[in-house]
Amino acid sequence: MIADGDESLAMNLRPLFVAGNWKMNLTIPEAERLAAAIVGASPGLPEARLVVAPPFTALSSVREVLRGSSVSLAGQNLYWEEKGAFTGEISAAMLRDVGCQYVIIGHSERRQYFGETDAGVNKKIRAALSHGLSPIVCVGESLDERENGQTIARIMSQIEEGFKNLGAAGFSQTMIAYEPVWAIGTGKTATPAQAEEVHALIREKLAEEYGNSPASCAIILYGGSVKPANAFDLLTEKDIDGFLVGGASLEAASFIEITKEAIRALKVKT
Ligand code: PEP
Repeated sequence: MIADGDESLAMNLRPLFVAGNWKMNLTIPEAERLAAAIVGASPGLPEARLVVAPPFTALSSVREVLRGSSVSLAGQNLYWEEKGAFTGEISAAMLRDVGCQYVIIGHSERRQYFGETDAGVNKKIRAALSHGLSPIVCVGESLDERENGQTIARIMSQIEEGFKNLGAAGFSQTMIAYEPVWAIGTGKTATPAQAEEVHALIREKLAEEYGNSPASCAIILYGGSVKPANAFDLLTEKDIDGFLVGGASLEAASFIEITKEAIRALKVKT
């Protein structure tokens, strides 16, 4: 247990996560090749916990490539029901069955194109936790919301609704990814200061809900056009604990370079 207020110690205890969201990309052989390249590089990146989220069709094959390595597998989504007549959906138990340890929940593309709500996100988080999956919960504001000064209100309500009745034990297994919607896949990145402002407020909000100690240990990732050129500056910020990477995770070289930059930043920060 970390004493309340001992932030530098808590920061040291927050492991560096770099997760790749491959979205609706890659055939099975392509996914296997990408996974193999990341596995090959992973012994040289021991300071980072690497996670890959292939499309559902490639999970099983990528699991075989990751076997025996330190790289973990994530699903990109799940449905909260246990089983039944929900055509096209995948349950938490199925993700566990195929070897996932993590699942991305509430990605802005799911909210934007598939009508996902904060209440649905809450049900998905609970389903994930009840099957031993660690959720990576995405929050973020649209460009309109940012321009109208609603960034913080939007994110706080996403956390309030999405994390409703999540006990301390569930919270301790959950990561947050702050992903400004206007920065996803657009090439526009939040500046380190813009990102840190939101990360710090998220951590404050978590402290109100769960107490200082758990909030100090919470992993808050940044996502939105992360690339090798901006990874170092973003990660030197106090409350940025790693990245959720989309486009740049589809090339092993850029994913690995981002991780190296993040490790370099981690060493400066601690
Ligand atoms: C994402 O999809 O979570 C993401 C951050 O995408 P990109 O890195 O391409 O902006």
